Amino acid sequence: MNIVLLGPPGAGKGTQAARLQASRGMIQMSTGDMLREAVANGSPVGVKAKAVMEAGKLVSDAIVSALIGERLDTAGRHGAIFDGFPRTRQQAEALDSLLAERGRNLDHVIELVVDEDALVERIAGRFSCAKCGASYHDRFKPPLADGVCDHCGSTECIRRPDDNEQTVRRRMAEYRAKTEPILPYYDERGLVHRVDGMQSVDDVAAQIEAILDS
Ligand code: ADP
Ligand code: ADP
Ligand code: ZN
Repeated sequence: MNIVLLGPPGAGKGTQAARLQASRGMIQMSTGDMLREAVANGSPVGVKAKAVMEAGKLVSDAIVSALIGERLDTAGRHGAIFDGFPRTRQQAEALDSLLAERGRNLDHVIELVVDEDALVERIAGRFSCAKCGASYHDRFKPPLADGVCDHCGSTECIRRPDDNEQTVRRRMAEYRAKTEPILPYYDERGLVHRVDGMQSVDDVAAQIEAILDS
Protein backbone atom coordinates (compact mmCIF):
# COMPACT_ATOMS: atom_id res chain seq x y z
CA MET A 1 0.00 0.00 0.00
CA ASN A 2 1.27 3.49 -0.88
CA ILE A 3 -0.24 6.59 0.66
CA VAL A 4 0.27 10.35 0.53
CA LEU A 5 -0.18 12.61 3.56
CA LEU A 6 -1.11 16.15 2.54
CA GLY A 7 -1.47 19.18 4.75
CA PRO A 8 0.14 22.54 5.53
CA PRO A 9 3.31 22.87 7.63
CA GLY A 10 2.61 21.68 11.16
CA ALA A 11 -0.51 19.70 10.20
CA GLY A 12 0.96 16.54 11.72
CA LYS A 13 2.18 14.69 8.61
CA GLY A 14 5.54 13.69 10.08
CA THR A 15 3.97 12.64 13.38
CA GLN A 16 1.41 10.41 11.67
CA ALA A 17 3.91 9.02 9.15
CA ALA A 18 6.20 7.94 11.99
CA ARG A 19 3.26 6.21 13.72
CA LEU A 20 2.35 4.33 10.55
CA GLN A 21 5.95 3.31 10.03
CA ALA A 22 5.96 1.84 13.55
CA SER A 23 2.51 0.23 13.39
CA ARG A 24 2.57 -1.15 9.84
CA GLY A 25 6.20 -1.39 8.83
CA MET A 26 5.58 1.02 5.96
CA ILE A 27 8.50 3.27 4.99
CA GLN A 28 8.24 6.98 5.71
CA MET A 29 9.42 9.04 2.74
CA SER A 30 9.84 12.61 3.88
CA THR A 31 11.41 14.90 1.30
CA GLY A 32 11.90 17.48 4.07
CA ASP A 33 14.01 14.98 6.06
CA MET A 34 15.92 13.94 2.92
CA LEU A 35 16.67 17.57 2.09
CA ARG A 36 17.75 18.40 5.67
CA GLU A 37 20.08 15.40 5.55
CA ALA A 38 21.53 16.66 2.24
CA VAL A 39 22.06 20.12 3.76
CA ALA A 40 23.76 18.61 6.83
CA ASN A 41 26.07 16.51 4.60
CA GLY A 42 26.88 19.47 2.37
CA SER A 43 26.08 17.37 -0.73
CA PRO A 44 25.49 19.18 -4.07
CA VAL A 45 21.71 18.89 -3.56
CA GLY A 46 22.08 20.28 -0.03
CA VAL A 47 24.13 23.24 -1.22
CA LYS A 48 21.40 24.13 -3.72
CA ALA A 49 18.51 23.58 -1.31
CA LYS A 50 19.76 25.33 1.83
CA ALA A 51 18.87 28.95 1.09
CA VAL A 52 15.57 27.99 -0.58
CA MET A 53 14.49 26.07 2.53
CA GLU A 54 15.55 28.84 4.88
CA ALA A 55 13.40 31.25 2.88
CA GLY A 56 10.38 28.90 3.17
CA LYS A 57 10.14 28.42 -0.59
CA LEU A 58 9.89 25.16 -2.51
CA VAL A 59 12.96 23.32 -3.75
CA SER A 60 12.84 22.47 -7.47
CA ASP A 61 10.58 19.65 -8.67
CA ALA A 62 13.52 17.96 -10.42
CA ILE A 63 15.57 17.73 -7.22
CA VAL A 64 12.84 16.33 -4.98
CA SER A 65 11.48 13.92 -7.59
CA ALA A 66 15.00 12.53 -8.05
CA LEU A 67 15.35 12.08 -4.26
CA ILE A 68 12.09 10.13 -4.11
CA GLY A 69 13.06 8.02 -7.13
CA GLU A 70 16.33 7.03 -5.44
CA ARG A 71 14.58 5.97 -2.25
CA LEU A 72 11.53 4.26 -3.68
CA ASP A 73 13.22 0.93 -4.22
CA THR A 74 14.09 0.69 -0.52
CA ALA A 75 10.37 0.68 0.36
CA GLY A 76 10.18 -2.87 -0.97
CA ARG A 77 6.83 -4.54 -0.63
CA HIS A 78 5.88 -2.80 2.60
CA GLY A 79 4.73 0.30 0.82
CA ALA A 80 5.49 3.94 1.40
CA ILE A 81 4.02 6.88 3.25
CA PHE A 82 4.83 10.05 1.34
CA ASP A 83 5.10 12.90 3.82
CA GLY A 84 5.59 16.37 2.35
CA PHE A 85 5.68 15.05 -1.22
CA PRO A 86 4.16 15.76 -3.70
CA ARG A 87 3.90 19.51 -3.19
CA THR A 88 3.17 20.57 -6.78
CA ARG A 89 1.14 19.20 -9.68
CA GLN A 90 4.38 18.34 -11.47
CA GLN A 91 5.58 16.32 -8.47
CA ALA A 92 2.23 14.52 -8.31
CA GLU A 93 2.63 13.47 -11.94
CA ALA A 94 6.25 12.44 -11.31
CA LEU A 95 5.11 10.26 -8.40
CA ASP A 96 2.55 8.51 -10.56
CA SER A 97 5.23 7.69 -13.14
CA LEU A 98 7.77 6.57 -10.55
CA LEU A 99 5.22 4.18 -9.03
CA ALA A 100 3.93 2.94 -12.40
CA GLU A 101 7.49 2.15 -13.53
CA ARG A 102 7.70 -0.19 -10.56
CA GLY A 103 4.29 -1.77 -11.16
CA ARG A 104 2.83 0.02 -8.14
CA ASN A 105 0.18 2.64 -7.54
CA LEU A 106 -1.21 5.08 -5.05
CA ASP A 107 -3.93 3.75 -2.75
CA HIS A 108 -4.98 6.72 -0.60
CA VAL A 109 -4.38 10.43 -0.22
CA ILE A 110 -5.05 11.69 3.28
CA GLU A 111 -5.58 15.41 3.72
CA LEU A 112 -5.03 16.64 7.28
CA VAL A 113 -7.39 19.59 7.67
CA VAL A 114 -6.19 22.08 10.27
CA ASP A 115 -6.88 25.52 11.56
CA GLU A 116 -4.17 27.94 10.38
CA ASP A 117 -3.86 29.82 13.66
CA ALA A 118 -3.00 26.59 15.44
CA LEU A 119 -0.19 25.84 13.00
CA VAL A 120 2.03 28.68 14.09
CA GLU A 121 1.78 27.47 17.69
CA ARG A 122 2.47 23.89 16.68
CA ILE A 123 5.50 24.87 14.67
CA ALA A 124 6.89 27.29 17.23
CA GLY A 125 6.86 24.50 19.84
CA ARG A 126 8.26 21.76 17.60
CA PHE A 127 11.65 20.19 18.35
CA SER A 128 13.30 16.84 17.77
CA CYS A 129 15.92 14.60 19.28
CA ALA A 130 19.37 15.37 17.87
CA LYS A 131 20.37 11.73 18.07
CA CYS A 132 17.39 9.66 16.84
CA GLY A 133 15.16 12.32 15.24
CA ALA A 134 12.07 11.58 17.39
CA SER A 135 9.69 14.52 17.21
CA TYR A 136 8.28 16.45 20.19
CA HIS A 137 6.32 19.55 21.11
CA ASP A 138 6.87 21.84 24.10
CA ARG A 139 3.20 21.77 25.00
CA PHE A 140 1.45 19.02 23.00
CA LYS A 141 4.03 16.24 23.16
CA PRO A 142 6.74 16.85 25.76
CA PRO A 143 9.14 13.97 26.50
CA LEU A 144 8.09 11.83 29.51
CA ALA A 145 11.15 13.04 31.46
CA ASP A 146 11.97 16.70 30.97
CA GLY A 147 14.82 17.15 28.46
CA VAL A 148 15.36 13.41 27.88
CA CYS A 149 14.37 11.62 24.65
CA ASP A 150 11.76 8.88 25.29
CA HIS A 151 13.30 6.67 22.62
CA CYS A 152 17.06 6.91 23.00
CA GLY A 153 17.75 8.82 26.22
CA SER A 154 19.66 11.63 24.51
CA THR A 155 19.52 15.03 26.20
CA GLU A 156 20.31 16.99 23.05
CA CYS A 157 17.47 18.45 21.01
CA ILE A 158 17.30 20.53 17.85
CA ARG A 159 14.92 23.10 16.41
CA ARG A 160 14.64 23.73 12.67
CA PRO A 161 15.95 27.07 11.39
CA ASP A 162 12.83 27.49 9.23
CA ASP A 163 10.44 27.02 12.17
CA ASN A 164 10.06 30.74 12.88
CA GLU A 165 6.87 32.72 12.41
CA GLN A 166 7.95 34.68 9.32
CA THR A 167 9.12 31.59 7.41
CA VAL A 168 6.07 29.62 8.52
CA ARG A 169 3.77 32.22 6.97
CA ARG A 170 5.74 31.98 3.73
CA ARG A 171 5.52 28.16 3.80
CA MET A 172 1.75 28.37 4.31
CA ALA A 173 1.42 30.69 1.34
CA GLU A 174 3.42 28.22 -0.77
CA TYR A 175 1.10 25.44 0.41
CA ARG A 176 -2.03 27.35 -0.58
CA ALA A 177 -0.63 28.45 -3.94
CA LYS A 178 1.08 25.27 -5.11
CA THR A 179 0.09 22.25 -3.04
CA GLU A 180 -3.64 22.66 -2.37
CA PRO A 181 -4.31 22.77 -6.15
CA ILE A 182 -3.15 19.12 -6.36
CA LEU A 183 -6.25 17.98 -4.47
CA PRO A 184 -8.58 18.02 -7.51
CA TYR A 185 -6.04 15.85 -9.39
CA TYR A 186 -6.49 13.15 -6.74
CA ASP A 187 -10.17 13.88 -6.04
CA GLU A 188 -11.03 12.99 -9.65
CA ARG A 189 -9.69 9.52 -8.95
CA GLY A 190 -11.59 9.21 -5.68
CA LEU A 191 -8.38 8.89 -3.66
CA VAL A 192 -8.81 11.72 -1.15
CA HIS A 193 -9.90 11.23 2.47
CA ARG A 194 -10.21 14.28 4.69
CA VAL A 195 -9.26 13.91 8.35
CA ASP A 196 -9.71 16.55 11.04
CA GLY A 197 -6.11 17.28 12.05
CA MET A 198 -7.18 19.37 15.06
CA GLN A 199 -7.97 16.23 17.05
CA SER A 200 -5.44 14.63 19.37
CA VAL A 201 -2.55 12.72 17.79
CA ASP A 202 -4.17 9.42 18.89
CA ASP A 203 -7.56 10.28 17.38
CA VAL A 204 -6.03 11.37 14.08
CA ALA A 205 -4.01 8.13 14.01
CA ALA A 206 -7.12 6.03 14.70
CA GLN A 207 -8.98 7.64 11.80
CA ILE A 208 -6.09 7.07 9.43
CA GLU A 209 -5.82 3.42 10.51
CA ALA A 210 -9.56 3.01 9.84
CA ILE A 211 -9.15 4.42 6.33
CA LEU A 212 -6.25 2.07 5.57
CA ASP A 213 -8.26 -0.90 6.86
CA SER A 214 -11.37 -0.03 4.86
P1 ADP B 1 4.25 18.39 9.72
O1 ADP B 1 5.12 17.18 9.42
O2 ADP B 1 2.93 18.32 9.03
O3 ADP B 1 4.96 19.68 9.46
P2 ADP B 1 4.55 17.57 12.54
O4 ADP B 1 4.08 16.16 12.55
O5 ADP B 1 6.02 17.81 12.63
O6 ADP B 1 3.92 18.37 11.28
O7 ADP B 1 3.82 18.34 13.75
C1 ADP B 1 4.15 19.69 14.09
C2 ADP B 1 4.23 19.83 15.62
O8 ADP B 1 2.92 19.67 16.18
C3 ADP B 1 5.11 18.77 16.29
O9 ADP B 1 5.82 19.37 17.36
C4 ADP B 1 4.12 17.72 16.78
O10 ADP B 1 4.59 17.10 18.00
C5 ADP B 1 2.86 18.54 17.06
N1 ADP B 1 1.63 17.81 16.68
C6 ADP B 1 1.45 16.94 15.65
N2 ADP B 1 0.18 16.47 15.61
C7 ADP B 1 -0.49 17.10 16.63
C8 ADP B 1 -1.86 17.05 17.12
N3 ADP B 1 -2.79 16.28 16.54
N4 ADP B 1 -2.15 17.83 18.19
C9 ADP B 1 -1.20 18.61 18.77
N5 ADP B 1 0.08 18.70 18.36
C10 ADP B 1 0.45 17.96 17.31
P1 ADP C 1 6.71 21.00 6.80
O1 ADP C 1 6.00 19.71 6.63
O2 ADP C 1 6.83 21.43 8.22
O3 ADP C 1 6.21 22.08 5.91
P2 ADP C 1 9.01 19.80 5.44
O4 ADP C 1 10.00 19.18 6.33
O5 ADP C 1 8.11 18.92 4.65
O6 ADP C 1 8.21 20.84 6.32
O7 ADP C 1 9.74 20.78 4.41
C1 ADP C 1 10.68 21.74 4.80
C2 ADP C 1 11.18 22.51 3.57
O8 ADP C 1 11.84 21.61 2.67
C3 ADP C 1 10.07 23.14 2.75
O9 ADP C 1 9.71 24.43 3.23
C4 ADP C 1 10.74 23.21 1.36
O10 ADP C 1 11.68 24.27 1.28
C5 ADP C 1 11.52 21.91 1.31
N1 ADP C 1 10.73 20.78 0.77
C6 ADP C 1 10.35 19.65 1.43
N2 ADP C 1 9.66 18.83 0.63
C7 ADP C 1 9.58 19.46 -0.58
C8 ADP C 1 8.96 19.13 -1.82
N3 ADP C 1 8.27 17.99 -1.99
N4 ADP C 1 9.07 20.04 -2.84
C9 ADP C 1 9.75 21.19 -2.70
N5 ADP C 1 10.34 21.56 -1.55
C10 ADP C 1 10.27 20.71 -0.48
ZN1 ZN D 1 16.17 10.22 20.68
